Amino acid sequence: MMDREQIRLLEFLRLLPKIELHRHLVGSVRIETLFDIASKYDIPLPTNDLEKLKNLIEVRTPVSDFRQFLKPLKILGLCFYDKKTIARIAYETVEDAAKDNVRYLELTIGPAFEASSHHLSLEEVFEGIISGVENAEEKYDIKVNLLAGPTFKWKERKTHSPLQVLEASLQFKEKVVGFGLSAETKEGIPFSKWDAKLKREYAKLAEEAKKAGFALTVHAGEIGDAQSVMDAIEHLKDDRIGHGIKYIRKSNTLKHLIKKKVPLEICISSNIKSGVVKSLKEHPVKKIIQSRSNSDH
Ligand SMILES: [Zn+2]
Repeated sequence: MMDREQIRLLEFLRLLPKIELHRHLVGSVRIETLFDIASKYDIPLPTNDLEKLKNLIEVRTPVSDFRQFLKPLKILGLCFYDKKTIARIAYETVEDAAKDNVRYLELTIGPAFEASSHHLSLEEVFEGIISGVENAEEKYDIKVNLLAGPTFKWKERKTHSPLQVLEASLQFKEKVVGFGLSAETKEGIPFSKWDAKLKREYAKLAEEAKKAGFALTVHAGEIGDAQSVMDAIEHLKDDRIGHGIKYIRKSNTLKHLIKKKVPLEICISSNIKSGVVKSLKEHPVKKIIQSRSNSDH
């Protein structure tokens, strides 16, 4: 239970105008919307009971295994049924952010993943997302840009390749401002330890994306360690790091980040819920900020 002081603080934070740089579209689907779309289009869900569905999807308490944290995404992916449903999901995501007084949002999308459950084209996914986003922008005081990125294991999943995702992103450049990659697998294996072919493909992709004028943001140091953060800087030459919190203070990585002026998108509550940091007390954010200010002197 929250006391009155905490409620007041939360309300104060909600009212502050904000910029949000790390929100995934799939993770933002309202469960009621998933339920509604599934019933309308006869999409089988693990349960037909809304409350049970919420229990399956919402991460209320921290999980012990990161892969468990990602499990609900598979179910949420089912409601990306067609352009119209995707537009609704995108609209509601922006609406929720706007109600939190987010004034500028960079929304991360994985068009190959969004296309995969119902075999859609990448164009259908982009068009759906952009129309939903633009409708919400008209109604609310918020500006939204997109960060598009590929999925791992696209061959196994028989979905669009990273290069196809990059090419489609270029078609929608008026709304896509950046490309999102990952320098670690879901098991935390850093880029430098991947097999040579995958490394080449990813490095080439990063290069092409930058050449095309996209900024590059790379997930690293979330489940993996400082090595993947270093890999993101050295091999993928990114502009921003998604997370970057794991053990970077114990290495030279933080100094390197500061020198190269690569910002971190740190997501405190996500890190705790996903189990990558055990508690708020143990979260390194404060120490990272202190190291940053010490380096200014
Ligand atoms: Zn993320």
